[in-house]
Amino acid sequence: MEENKKLKNEVATLKNNIEYLDKDSRKRNVIFHGIDELEENPHKLLKLIVPDEIKTFKDFPLSQRTLKALKENNYITPTDIQRQAIGYALQGKDILGAAKTGSGKTLAFLIPILEILFCKKWTRLDGVGAVVISPTRELAYQIYETLRKVGYLHDFSAGLIIGGQNLKFERKRMDQMNILICTPGRLLQHMDENPLFDCSHLQILVLDEADRCLDMGFEATMNAIIENLPPKRQTLLFSATQTKSVKDLARLSLSFPTYVAPHEQATTATPEFLQQNYIVCKIDEKFSILWSFIKNHLKQKSLVFMATCKQVKYTYELFCKLRPGISLLALYGTLHQEKREKIYREFCRKSNVVLFATDLASRGLDFPKVNWVIQYDCPEDVDTYIHRAGRTARGVFGKGDGLLMLLPHEEKIVEDLRKNKIPINQIFVDASKVMIPLRKIESLLSDNGELKKTAQRAFMSYIKSIYLMKNKDIFNVQLLDTDAFSRSLGLIVPPAIKFMYKYNKSATENNVLGIQDTNDAIKKLKAKLSSDERSDGSESEADNEPVVVVAEETKTKKEIPLFDFHNVKVGSDEKHLFKVKEKNVSIDIAVLPNEDDVPTKKNAKPSTKTAVVKKILKSKVKVNTTVKFGEDGEVIGDEKKDVKSDLGKQFVNENAITVDIEKMSELLQEEDKFDKARFRERVKAKHKEQKRKLKNKKKEDEGEKDDFGSQSESDGPDLSWLPDPDKVYGTKDDYQNSETKSVSDYSENDYSNESVTSEKNEEFHRPPKRKIVESEDIPRESINPRKVKKIEDVSASLTVNEAEALAMQLLKSK
Ligand code: ADP
Ligand code: MG
Repeated sequence: MEENKKLKNEVATLKNNIEYLDKDSRKRNVIFHGIDELEENPHKLLKLIVPDEIKTFKDFPLSQRTLKALKENNYITPTDIQRQAIGYALQGKDILGAAKTGSGKTLAFLIPILEILFCKKWTRLDGVGAVVISPTRELAYQIYETLRKVGYLHDFSAGLIIGGQNLKFERKRMDQMNILICTPGRLLQHMDENPLFDCSHLQILVLDEADRCLDMGFEATMNAIIENLPPKRQTLLFSATQTKSVKDLARLSLSFPTYVAPHEQATTATPEFLQQNYIVCKIDEKFSILWSFIKNHLKQKSLVFMATCKQVKYTYELFCKLRPGISLLALYGTLHQEKREKIYREFCRKSNVVLFATDLASRGLDFPKVNWVIQYDCPEDVDTYIHRAGRTARGVFGKGDGLLMLLPHEEKIVEDLRKNKIPINQIFVDASKVMIPLRKIESLLSDNGELKKTAQRAFMSYIKSIYLMKNKDIFNVQLLDTDAFSRSLGLIVPPAIKFMYKYNKSATENNVLGIQDTNDAIKKLKAKLSSDERSDGSESEADNEPVVVVAEETKTKKEIPLFDFHNVKVGSDEKHLFKVKEKNVSIDIAVLPNEDDVPTKKNAKPSTKTAVVKKILKSKVKVNTTVKFGEDGEVIGDEKKDVKSDLGKQFVNENAITVDIEKMSELLQEEDKFDKARFRERVKAKHKEQKRKLKNKKKEDEGEKDDFGSQSESDGPDLSWLPDPDKVYGTKDDYQNSETKSVSDYSENDYSNESVTSEKNEEFHRPPKRKIVESEDIPRESINPRKVKKIEDVSASLTVNEAEALAMQLLKSK
């Protein structure tokens, strides 16, 4: 005992002296030598730290900087987990820390981080010394804030590295950070992409909510992160529901971790002053009970957990419109990061408020003074229940109430909860006090198409979440009265549950086949489902999540009512009804599949163009082709579609019906060369044409000044001054056979323009020059210069004598 006290004082003096290192460099060597000695011989420290003897933080050998900051923040007496874990952590041991929600685990790892780096004389130049990984951005932010509070007197730099932030900004500063608080995805992104990121000197790795970080949702990311970290490091894992999985521990290469679980012998797994209740109600009563609850707790702070983002969105939007008289907020994964931060802070700050949230908010978040936690939808498992409920009654002597809402068949979970030392009581709702303005909701939905869609999505997402749950004893989509559920949301017509159609169909077919053997049924249906999905040509959830169908005859008879989705009868004989059981389904509520994601016969699209082509070729459907005919009925080839390259011609000759993407792309590249050349020619021709038009216009302008006008070639000569040729040369019919063609032919054949043709009848002698010139669509080549020339010849060929004769003839005829 005496020796302990002496050593304690020795360490305290040494640590305090570090504060003056820079001022008195002569002392440095002596002090460092002392600390090094302690580090090399951790047993000395172990003797110093006897958890039961620790009354205040001062009893730990902590630096003055940490102690001062702790005191400033009113952290005087360590909690159980802090008392037990800090000592081992300071000795450099790997720790598995398990303690109830709200018991102060954050400081149990932040204090050791600060102290260990401090003892190691870590400077900014040493790079990343500690990494804390959190499963959500909000939790990472909260840990970062706590670190700032208790570590502000230290010289370490700390960074919050979470998704949705400015990546460039983070990138530049990564090499200067000593302590990183991050989410797994963003950390891995920096590891992969940022050359400045170096964690080869990492001393401590902490996983907060470790079991969540190590579960299937983060498996690949965490494995990649761990691979990038130096194996020689200290690892601390903390959670209220700690993993003891050997596999997880092996993944992290923990060396003889110390299991610290101060509440293992406690009578309850949840906080002492948390009052826990549950109610059993019908699915169509849930919404009105929630509304009534909110209306009855206007002066309280409540957190409502729902199964999916879309439910949260709809409930929030609708309830806002119904104006309950209390602030409403919604927090879910698909929100923009800025909004998420804002909502998180707002809920922390406000006291009379309701927050609707997904399980995103179930882990670790320390919202101050939450009165009620309502689990609107049944939690996935006992652990989820513990974390959700643990958002209230936090800290030392924190109080709160929990309400779990269960459907009759979900009541089985209560057994599991009680088995896991969760004291929960059933309470009953006073039906007379339950009300919701359903008519108003219905009219709101009929007026607001967007809100109606949100309602439909909420409905679908809930059904899907139930369908995807592992525990089919509790979550069974066939036991849901979907029609009543949809009506309770304000949807008069229940949305079609397309994805269930396939399952029901399979079940019906199985009934018809009369398969008795369960294994056979499993195999057959599995194969059927997966082949069905494949024929849609798309990767579906069903592909990833094996569906096992098990016949449960006895249960089905009693408990499962005949259920009808889409008016598709599952089968008249209840004996053959099936229940769906799924294995290895990872459910991330935040990324629940979209309604549109589930492939259906109607909207299923082959995923690639190759798949489309293959499908067409397979079905031997001939693709329609267009054939153009000219004036005389000759077939006009499409220059654009004709293949020009040798490769293309070869391909056409081979008449290949296989789809070789590489070959096709090579062929297209070859053809592309010709296309480009053709395009260049066209552009050239266009420019030429424009120039010529410009020239003509100039000439025309000049001609306008001239009374007789030396008309441009394209306009045709102005022959209006000439006498009526009909009268001179006979009628049109007589004339047609003659060598010299008339203007009417010229307009009729070459322009096929109705107005031009009608003009022909009235003013036979006038060339429709304006129309021709103005018609930009008409290609220049179509104007036949030869014909124009001939007309010019008529006037040009008249000699003076002939002209005289013609004039005489005209006079005579007059
Ligand atoms: P956990 O991670 O175990 O759920 P937190 O670390 O979030 O718990 O702490 C829960 C609350 O308890 C926080 O508000 C925190 O400020 C408070 N707290 C933690 N340690 C102490 C302490 N030693 N004394 C007083 N309050 C504490
Ligand atoms: Mg925590």
